[in-house]
Amino acid sequence: MIPSKFNYSKATSVQDAISKLGGEAKILAGGHSLIPSMKLRLNQPSDLIDISQLEAIKQITDEGESVLIGAGATHGEIANSSIVQSACSMVSNGAAQIGDIQVRNKGTIGGSIAHADPAADWPAIIIAADGVVIIEGAGGSREVPAASFFTGFYETALEENEIITGIRIPKLNSGSSATYVKFAQPASRFAIVGCAVVKNLDSEGEIGNIKVSITGVSEFAYRDHGVEDELMGKPLTADVIESAAAKAAESVDVMSDHYASETYRKHLAKVYVKKALSELM
Ligand SMILES: Cc1cc2nc3c(=O)[nH]c(=O)nc-3n(C[C@H](O)[C@H](O)[C@H](O)COP(=O)(O)OP(=O)(O)OC[C@H]3O[C@@H](n4cnc5c(N)ncnc54)[C@H](O)[C@@H]3O)c2cc1C
Repeated sequence: MIPSKFNYSKATSVQDAISKLGGEAKILAGGHSLIPSMKLRLNQPSDLIDISQLEAIKQITDEGESVLIGAGATHGEIANSSIVQSACSMVSNGAAQIGDIQVRNKGTIGGSIAHADPAADWPAIIIAADGVVIIEGAGGSREVPAASFFTGFYETALEENEIITGIRIPKLNSGSSATYVKFAQPASRFAIVGCAVVKNLDSEGEIGNIKVSITGVSEFAYRDHGVEDELMGKPLTADVIESAAAKAAESVDVMSDHYASETYRKHLAKVYVKKALSELM
């Protein structure tokens, strides 16, 4: 439980942090995923570059049509932000469900999505919310839609020597509603299954647009198009929800571990999709 030796430095700016990356160096944000993995020697970085004091990437800003959440904002700051609460309460409510108060006070949204734990809450939430990940590297900045940011088991679209600086979340419009529900591992609160839904009704009262994303079930969070296709153009009734929920987790390889077998997890995915959709009825 003792990490291997490393050098530690505090970044003075995003550019300073980027210039220090390379080789086996790693960014340190809240440390709530990185430090435990270093103690287990799953990660043995040569250098830790601490970005936790960079005010420039901790801000939560109202941009009019969207909200820009700095990568260094903690889960707790996001849960308590009035800007986020009024822009999309699914995002603040989702943040409030992460871990316990210590985890929420240290862990950051940027650290969580960079780490890409298959049981993390943020991936499902930002995918359903149509979020965009803002990335900065030596060559400039780029934006990646959340739906294509997560690429594999603990894998993302982030290249070496790049840093996430923020996540842009569009505000929900007046015809939209959204929710995030999860079946939490009782000790850590990680999602054994988590489901986020953002829905928009058309003028007929039928579903004109819907995003259903699921975390905890497969190697990385994904949009469940099987469920979405079953819902499009229909009113959100109990029968429609029942048949849409039955499609959950049918198009992915479902994980099995000591928390939940493949069969149980798949069952939970259907239960939690139904729960989320029923909340939005
Ligand atoms: C007891 C416990 C319970 C938890 N429960 C939950 C839970 O219920 N739900 C949940 O989703 N999570 C949970 N977590 C994880 C927690 O949310 C972590 O804080 C989060 O996953 C990582 O964020 P961090 O800021 O601590 O990142 P760190 O641990 O500092 O870093 C994680 C990784 O991301 C990289 N990184 C960090 N910031 C950036 C950046 N801006 N750009 C590029 N790379 C970066 C680091 O180099 C490292 O590889 C739990 C953790 C613990 C210890």
